[in-house]
Amino acid sequence: MGLIKRGINTKLPDEGTLSVRLLMSISVVQKAPTAMSTVIIRKAAYDYQVIRPIVFEMLASGEAPTIDAGARVLIKPNFLAPAAPEKALTTHPLIVKATAEFALEKGARVQISDSPATGSFTKLFKKGGYAETLNGLDVTVKPFEKTIPVDVGEPFGTIDVAKDAMQADVVVNLAKLKTHTQMMLTLGVKNLFGCIVGLKKPEWHLRAGVDRQVFGRLIVSIFEAVGPEYTIMDGILAMEGQGPGKSGTPRELGLLMGGKSAHAVDHVVCLQVGLDPDNLETHRSAREMGLYDGSVHIDGDLTILDDFQFPELGTLTMGPERLGRFMRKFVIQQPVADNKACKLCGECWKYCPAEAISYTIRGISFNTNTCIRCYCCLEVCPHAAIRAKKPLAGRLVAWLTKNR
Ligand code: SF4
Ligand code: SF4
Repeated sequence: MGLIKRGINTKLPDEGTLSVRLLMSISVVQKAPTAMSTVIIRKAAYDYQVIRPIVFEMLASGEAPTIDAGARVLIKPNFLAPAAPEKALTTHPLIVKATAEFALEKGARVQISDSPATGSFTKLFKKGGYAETLNGLDVTVKPFEKTIPVDVGEPFGTIDVAKDAMQADVVVNLAKLKTHTQMMLTLGVKNLFGCIVGLKKPEWHLRAGVDRQVFGRLIVSIFEAVGPEYTIMDGILAMEGQGPGKSGTPRELGLLMGGKSAHAVDHVVCLQVGLDPDNLETHRSAREMGLYDGSVHIDGDLTILDDFQFPELGTLTMGPERLGRFMRKFVIQQPVADNKACKLCGECWKYCPAEAISYTIRGISFNTNTCIRCYCCLEVCPHAAIRAKKPLAGRLVAWLTKNR
C-alpha cells in the first residue's frame, strides 16, 4: 500500500485522471466526470438488524471499492459536536459500526476519524453513543491532527488536509442529511470539509466563505482532493430548519442512501427533499467544474417530500459599500442570540472566523458589519442559543417582494 494514496495516480491522462505527487505535498488535478453512478436508496430505522444488511449490501455492490486484507480504511463520519444521536447532529453510531464491521471482515485496518467543529473528541465519542456501540471492535479511533499540504489548484492553491485521510487506501464517507444555514444542506460532498483540521476551518470560512459560490468551490476542491471511494448518507433521522447545529430540528425520513459518487448521492437527496439540485451550491459547483454531469441511476424508491423545511439563505455582498453596510445591518439575515439560553460558554466567539462576536455578563452581541454570515456560531453553540433572523426591514422587503 502506498504512503500517500490520495492525489497519487499513475493512470495516464486518457484514463480520465492525472495528478502529480510532490515531495511533501500533493497536487490534485480535477478528474473527468465519471459515468452514470448508481445511488441505492433503502428504507431503514436505527435497528442494527436493519442497518447492518443494508450497509453490507451497499459496500458489496458493484460500484463499491475493493477492500484488500491489510488495507487502511478510513471511516469519516459527521462528528460535528458532542450530541446524543436523537439530536441528529452526527452520523448514527450503528452506521459507523456496520461500516467498520464490513471492513474488518475483509481484513482491513480500520480508523474512524474526524475533526469536530467544537467540543472534545472524547466527549463526542461518549455522548454520541460511539464508545458504547463500537466497544469490542478492533478499530483505531482518533481525531484528525496532522495535515499534509495539498495543491487543489486555482484559486485556492495549497490547502492543509488531514494526513490520515490522504494516506488511507479507502475512504468511506458517512454523511448526515442536514440543513445548513449558509450552504442550504450539508451532505456527502460537504462532509469532507471535516478533513480540514481544527481552526483551519474557520480560517477557510473567512477566506472563502463570504461568497457562497466561492465557498462551494472550495468544498468541492477539498472533497476531490480526498476523493472518498464510497458515500453512505444517514437520512434516517435527518435535520431540517436552521441546521446543522443544535438550532436545527430533527426530522425522521427513514432513509439510507449509498453510492460511489457523493455528487450523485447529494443529487438524489436534493430530489428527495424537494430541492432543485442546482440550488445546492456544492452540486452546482461540481457541475460547473465538470466533475459531475447529473446522470444518476436510482436503485430503490424515490419519494419526494413537499414539506421539508429549509433555512432561508441570506447574502452578505450587496451593492456599493455604504449601501452594503446598511443592508448588512438592517436588511440581510443575521445571527441573533437568545441571551436567556446563552451560557456564555465561549464556543461561538472562540470559533467565529471574523471575530464578530463580543460578550458581556448580560450575553453576546454581533458586529453585523464584520460578520460574514458563515453561521459557524449556530453550528458550534451547544445550547441552541443562536439562530439566523432577518431584521424587520428585511422581513418587510421580503413580504413586499412576495406580495407584489
Ligand atoms: S451563544 Fe452559545 S456558544 Fe455562544 S457563548 Fe452563548 S451558549 Fe456559548
Ligand atoms: S458571528 Fe457567526 S455568522 Fe457572523 S462571522 Fe461569526 S460565526 Fe460567522
